[in-house]
Amino acid sequence: MPVDEVLVDDLTRAKLGESGIADLRRRFGRGDCLTCERPLRRSVAVVVDEFYAMTRASAYHPQCHQPVWIDSGPSLIPKNQAVSYHCRLFLGPNVLSRDANPIPWFLVHPSLEILGLKPTESGMWVSSDLDIFERFGFITKLDNAPLAEPKDLVALWVRRNSVVVTALAHRWSCTGDPHTMRRLNRMKGAVVAITTVIDPGEEVTPEMLEAAVRSEQCAMGWVRLRQANQ
Ligand SMILES: [Zn+2]
Repeated sequence: MPVDEVLVDDLTRAKLGESGIADLRRRFGRGDCLTCERPLRRSVAVVVDEFYAMTRASAYHPQCHQPVWIDSGPSLIPKNQAVSYHCRLFLGPNVLSRDANPIPWFLVHPSLEILGLKPTESGMWVSSDLDIFERFGFITKLDNAPLAEPKDLVALWVRRNSVVVTALAHRWSCTGDPHTMRRLNRMKGAVVAITTVIDPGEEVTPEMLEAAVRSEQCAMGWVRLRQANQ
């Protein structure tokens, strides 16, 4: 579930503008407060740790941290904190052959309480959440190109009725319904799609998915199913 309200300080408001603040509100999910590790609620205090392309905005309970933009270098965000994710396995549009047969999608929001920001030449700050995944072969533009297979640092396998995906240092897992699992096993893979504009912990409609893909806010790759001994 997205948060309803993000509390920011004056510097954050000046740097992001109203549209940037609205974008944070859209992208933060209700993960856990990075101070007390208890679930976030509708209103979160935003702490931005500015460090070039590694700038991070993180979410706290308002009573656990005051909103602040820190531009003195990476300083605050706990390095060993478990980051929350939500993922969902479902049958979605066939972006492999563009025919009508749906194919398995593994959709994940990888960091509900920490979002990436990067400065642009115009002075605007924009989301950098998908950049690292694009460097490893995920694509945000479907065009007419075939869906890429990301590099070896991404893996997918089935464990009982769960699908496990590892990507770089992330490990995500969720269960699928029998029909979707059969399709995944038959096709020997799934579209792994990473986004921060949809919370897969909530219902995901085809319209939401299409809008995220169309606005290039979904990093997608076809990931082959690995055998248990691989
Ligand atoms: Zn807290």
